[in-house]
Amino acid sequence: MPSSIVPEKRTAAASDARAAGLDDTHAVELQSWVASARDHAEFPIQNLPFGVFSPADGSPRGGVAIGDEILDLSALAQSALAGPEFAEVLDAASKSSLNHLLALGAVPRRRLRARLSALLRDGSPHRDALASMLHRASDCRMSLPAQIGGYTDFYAGIQHAINIGSLLRPDNPLLPNYKYVPIGYHGRASSVLPSGAPVTRPNGQRKRPEEEAPSFGPCRNLDYELEIGAWIGPGNALGTPIAIDNAEDHVAGLCLLNDWSARDIQAWEYQPLGPFLSKDFATTISPWIVTAEALAPFRRTQMARPEGDPAPLSYLQPRTTGRQDAFDITIEVSLQSEAMRRQGIAPHRVSSGSTRDLYWTVAQLVTHHSSNGCNLQPGDLLGSGTISGRDPGSFGSLMEISRGGRQPFDLPGGETRTYLVDGDDIVMRARASREGYATIGFGECRGRVLPARA
Ligand code: CA
Repeated sequence: MPSSIVPEKRTAAASDARAAGLDDTHAVELQSWVASARDHAEFPIQNLPFGVFSPADGSPRGGVAIGDEILDLSALAQSALAGPEFAEVLDAASKSSLNHLLALGAVPRRRLRARLSALLRDGSPHRDALASMLHRASDCRMSLPAQIGGYTDFYAGIQHAINIGSLLRPDNPLLPNYKYVPIGYHGRASSVLPSGAPVTRPNGQRKRPEEEAPSFGPCRNLDYELEIGAWIGPGNALGTPIAIDNAEDHVAGLCLLNDWSARDIQAWEYQPLGPFLSKDFATTISPWIVTAEALAPFRRTQMARPEGDPAPLSYLQPRTTGRQDAFDITIEVSLQSEAMRRQGIAPHRVSSGSTRDLYWTVAQLVTHHSSNGCNLQPGDLLGSGTISGRDPGSFGSLMEISRGGRQPFDLPGGETRTYLVDGDDIVMRARASREGYATIGFGECRGRVLPARA
């Protein structure tokens, strides 16, 4: 090969990488001077997610996860270390809620991330000063990262929709609108909880098929739903839809999301208007915003629609084909009962799925949500819908795994489950991996079921 071609090829590769949002913050060989971050399973220097934490003796403030530590961004903002050009974005990232950071959009966020990467990497001249701004994550309490103005839950996991549909309508599991319209409903923002907050079993109206009338009492079929959440960045003015080609500009990052679900209450209440009290008693999220920038290496093209499926309507179709609109994230859910904890038995992995199984992309959810002019705002949260694959080991809810409560499964230690029992801990985790890149994680999305109120 003539040597003159090589620089050209290199330039082309560099330009492809830039187009994919890749830069030196993603380099696999990059290491941090923070010892616990070196090859950390979730928070190596290539991740740098934003969150809100309280140190043992302090109030909530913005921070960045690095290994087993959290860098206090309010301390960094007060120091002159980052440089005056970062004053505004650092101020936004150091607050007790990160709505302003989300509102600023991708460009300042990316610049701050690059600056943090430089400060935290091996050889940083500011190591000693920064070391005094670190807190051990295990000593800190995490809050929600933003004030959530609106929470919307979608239904983009097609296999989940088929699995649930086949329990209700074996001959016709998927309703005819599914492949045209991203189905969703407005959830309740006030009951979104950070990981670790307990979840009280809801009371509500329940009616078994053989019962003539409903009764009011503790939910009998309490379930979880394994989802990812998307944090909205700048958003749109009322009446101004977000075009599909601009939708990614409004996705600041992702988290894990457990859409706790009271199946018996849901079955009785949902017709004709959809979910209500069966869903809005609690939604748990992982507390770190894993940024769109950190996730750049883990983008993929959206799975091809099966032969015979309709193409998305044009407002949901990006102008260019082959865009990396999907995320390649592996997600899993584990259960640990009270008896398992007593006996020292580790949490049992119930299932593992992939965000590649979503029928609609996050960009399509954003565009569809705003397509009628509805305004999305910084700090709004979108749930993907339950993510399930084709085999039972990848089903994202107990309703699917237990076939509507009819097939119990075994837990180590001798217990069985169909739905959740008081004292059960549900822990969700996620990893994004790709050869040639550092694996990053999301932190835990954890909640324990407490008994219903008398
Ligand atoms: Ca859901």
